[in-house]
Amino acid sequence: MKVAFLGLGAIGAPMARHLAPLYTLSVWNRTADRARQFAADHKASAATSPADAARGASIVITCLPTSREVESLLDGADGMLGALESGATLIDCTSGDPATSRRIAARLSERGVGFVDAPVSGGVSGATKGILTVMCGGDEATMQRARPILEAFGEKIVHCGPVGAGHAVKAVNQAMLGVHIWALSEGLVALEKAGVSTETALDVINASSGRSNTSMNLFPERVMTRAFPRTFKLALMDKDVRIAADFAREHGVTSPLLQLVSELLREARRELGEEADHVETVQVLERWAGVAVGRKA
Ligand code: NDP
Repeated sequence: MKVAFLGLGAIGAPMARHLAPLYTLSVWNRTADRARQFAADHKASAATSPADAARGASIVITCLPTSREVESLLDGADGMLGALESGATLIDCTSGDPATSRRIAARLSERGVGFVDAPVSGGVSGATKGILTVMCGGDEATMQRARPILEAFGEKIVHCGPVGAGHAVKAVNQAMLGVHIWALSEGLVALEKAGVSTETALDVINASSGRSNTSMNLFPERVMTRAFPRTFKLALMDKDVRIAADFAREHGVTSPLLQLVSELLREARRELGEEADHVETVQVLERWAGVAVGRKA
């Protein structure tokens, strides 16, 4: 069975690696060298265009920054729309937005092509280990076709509801992540300023009710060490939290915290730039306060 994977970025590449031994895999990437390198390193072929990748594929997977890029790959002479065969399924692993996904699904449906939004959580390390959480939106029959493919890189695969439901759940999850990073950063910076070391503060918090994945894993591994590896862009988290804030507003839900965190992350993105990692957000709070948290040299 031919499977196509489009978007070999930080998380797409390790996800695609799990598919290479299982299927006839065709990969496409905007920067073609990345696809050629992937094909040379794994059992896969490099497609010359999105249409080339999609032609003859039963399953096409996209993993791009936003739903806008996914939609843009449908159209034009090199686009997927004209190449996808009736009965094929597009699985979109992008952390996208529900409304664009519903539009994409409707366009594909006119051609007998199914759609599942299937954003993932677990980071690059979870993708490398093949233990991602995958949250899905789509109809039951399409979901059944998608599930065996998702099992190649996913450990927990949850059908959340109709098209867009996966993206909505992912956006809310990301908003929680954004809240945790921002709140922990403010708290640790204040404690440092008052003379309580971050090491001591995290030791207490991680044995107390305020702990989170951010305090237990992200900060010890990335902030305490000052390593700040670039695995997930702040720009992408900003996009995710904006989707959550818009989603809540569109549904008439009073959501002051989501709106505020979305604004704060946009400001952090402006200060730190497009390449910064999401955990570097703490550096904005450090600059504002004039103290650094984490292990001292
Ligand atoms: P990266 O920025 O590392 O990679 C983005 C990918 O999209 C690259 O393959 C890039 O191609 C491609 N791309 C960018 N713009 C376009 C375009 N206009 N047309 C076609 N292709 C394009 O992002 P990630 O891999 O980190 O993220 C991908 C998705 O997964 C995002 O939605 C993100 O929110 C989500 N995600 C990421 C996680 C992570 O830990 N990194 C965790 C969970 C979800 P090129 O090589 O040419 O730049």
